[in-house]
Amino acid sequence: MRCPFCSHDDTKVIDSRLVAEGGQVRRRRECTDCSERFTTYESAELLMPKIIKGNGSREPFDGEKLRSGIMRALEKRPVSVEKIEAVVNQIEHDLQATGEREIESMRVGELVMESLRELDQVAFVRFASVYRDFKDLNEFREEIDRLAEEPAPGES
Ligand SMILES: [Zn+2]
Repeated sequence: MRCPFCSHDDTKVIDSRLVAEGGQVRRRRECTDCSERFTTYESAELLMPKIIKGNGSREPFDGEKLRSGIMRALEKRPVSVEKIEAVVNQIEHDLQATGEREIESMRVGELVMESLRELDQVAFVRFASVYRDFKDLNEFREEIDRLAEEPAPGES
């Protein structure tokens, strides 16, 4: 950390403590050159990456859009609002955890499909058919075939 007084490159930490209920670290630093003291606050940066769309344009991540897409796939399916919220939160968390500044919308779609596959297979097929938009029809067919071969839960 550079000294804000003399711009010297080397400062030492003389005190360090958790603040804001552990969400931040407050550090007292002292410049090894001019001996001035100053304070820094450090917190984890959890930024939502920007979404790179198919046409190359970027847009801010929109949690509402994600939620409504998932809700649409789950329309009239026996899945509770709590479970939907949990999926939305998990996906947002996964996106933040990538640490990427930008992420392709395709990868968001893959995350949604992974979650829906576990949550509700009908919703998964609905979402996949809209999302994949027939751009990889063979892969989609294989997925449907695979689902058809697996007995649905409670129906073997
Ligand atoms: Zn200094």
